[in-house]
Amino acid sequence: MYDEVKVLNPYHMAVQQFESAAEHLKLSEDMREILRQPKRELTVNFPVRLDNGRIKTFTGYRVHHNVNRGPAKGGIRYSPEVTLDEVKALSMWMTWKCAVVGIPFGGAKGGVICDPKSMSPAELERLTRRYATEISIIIGPHSDIPAPDVNTNSQVMAWIMDTYSMHEGYSVSAVVTGKPLSIGGSEGRNDATATGVLFVTRQAAKHTGMRLQGARVSIQGYGNAGSIAARLFHAEGCKIVAVSDTRGGIYNESGLDPAAVLRFKQERGSVVGFPGSQAVSVQDVLEVPCDILIPAATEGVITRANADRVQARIVAEAANGPTTPEADAILFKKGTLVIPDILANAGGVTVSYFEWVQDLQSFFWNVDEITRKLEVIMNRAYASVAEKAEQYSCDLRLAANMLAISRVAEATQIRGIYP
Ligand code: NAD
Repeated sequence: MYDEVKVLNPYHMAVQQFESAAEHLKLSEDMREILRQPKRELTVNFPVRLDNGRIKTFTGYRVHHNVNRGPAKGGIRYSPEVTLDEVKALSMWMTWKCAVVGIPFGGAKGGVICDPKSMSPAELERLTRRYATEISIIIGPHSDIPAPDVNTNSQVMAWIMDTYSMHEGYSVSAVVTGKPLSIGGSEGRNDATATGVLFVTRQAAKHTGMRLQGARVSIQGYGNAGSIAARLFHAEGCKIVAVSDTRGGIYNESGLDPAAVLRFKQERGSVVGFPGSQAVSVQDVLEVPCDILIPAATEGVITRANADRVQARIVAEAANGPTTPEADAILFKKGTLVIPDILANAGGVTVSYFEWVQDLQSFFWNVDEITRKLEVIMNRAYASVAEKAEQYSCDLRLAANMLAISRVAEATQIRGIYP
């Protein structure tokens, strides 16, 4: 079943979601043609010297979907599974995400086809610096600002910032976000995605009459988004009953200690084998008895093949694109509240926006101020999406897409067509 999921094309999924919202908005065919495809797709093939002296050529992408509301913004992913269609889908979702939370960015995404787990830190640094140089023709603090995503982190952002700055001849901290604090990173950026997931889940729980105290949470993926969500939901009083990574899942109906699981993963490379837990499959984590499910790994994992077996009442999408349109319909029918990715995980890009603003002003805020501002934005976005869903008697994804797409279409319309 998981193989079937793997052949799923995220771009087709993104376009299908777009068409559905465009239909409800009665967007003109001309506007649909503009918005349904990316503005710009850059493919780069570049050589990197490996530690053993050999030279390997890698392929990478950087895609701008739409920049009518502001500079392009989006993460960079390192994975053997990166494809141009995946990057295109993720760039489109970034456009809608920035619009749904009302921050002045357009959508972008980047990726390099590589297996970072089999590369040394020195090889990763050379790959990053060369990829940054190759895409430097379209990135910049006022044109396109990358950030971390799957298998990239603050160190990778530091190398990109340094490479770009070397070419400019002076330090340009605002060219990337998700940087270390010592070079212009923001307080709160590391926890931002998971913090945003918690804020919107609080609203959804209120909406459905669920108490977070004691609620059972299952999380797929134990990286930046997943492991921090585990910590924050645990601190909120939830019971983390299952988590997973690429190697498998673990389950304990009495609850897992997220900090101990993280230490175990850091030491052993996986959550699998955590003492006192029962081993389950990556897929099982989506289907165990729980109240809240947080997919925090990758696209296309909740499909028509397993949506019926999802037991959670709330699905909070920390990952981008985890639910297929067919699965969405099944979940909506059985009354599961899905908080869609473009809303649920928008905390990351929102604090990235704060980081960019702080860098441009060289004036930095404290973590309390950042968390307060983030909460206002996430709660406001949730309320607008929930209101739209009520108005159209539809799920939150369609409502969020309608809200976002209408904002992007308005900006596109009002700017006019050049020349
Ligand atoms: P990460 O690399 O830190 O962690 C990814 C985790 O998912 C790892 O534990 C990995 O083992 C697991 N994983 C990867 N592929 C898997 C698979 N096929 N099955 C099961 N587990 C798998 O990445 P991240 O930054 O936490 O990103 C996770 C998701 O959240 C992605 O969809 C990403 O686009 C999305 N997201 C991240 C951020 C952010 O700020 N980091 C912001 C918004 C959205």
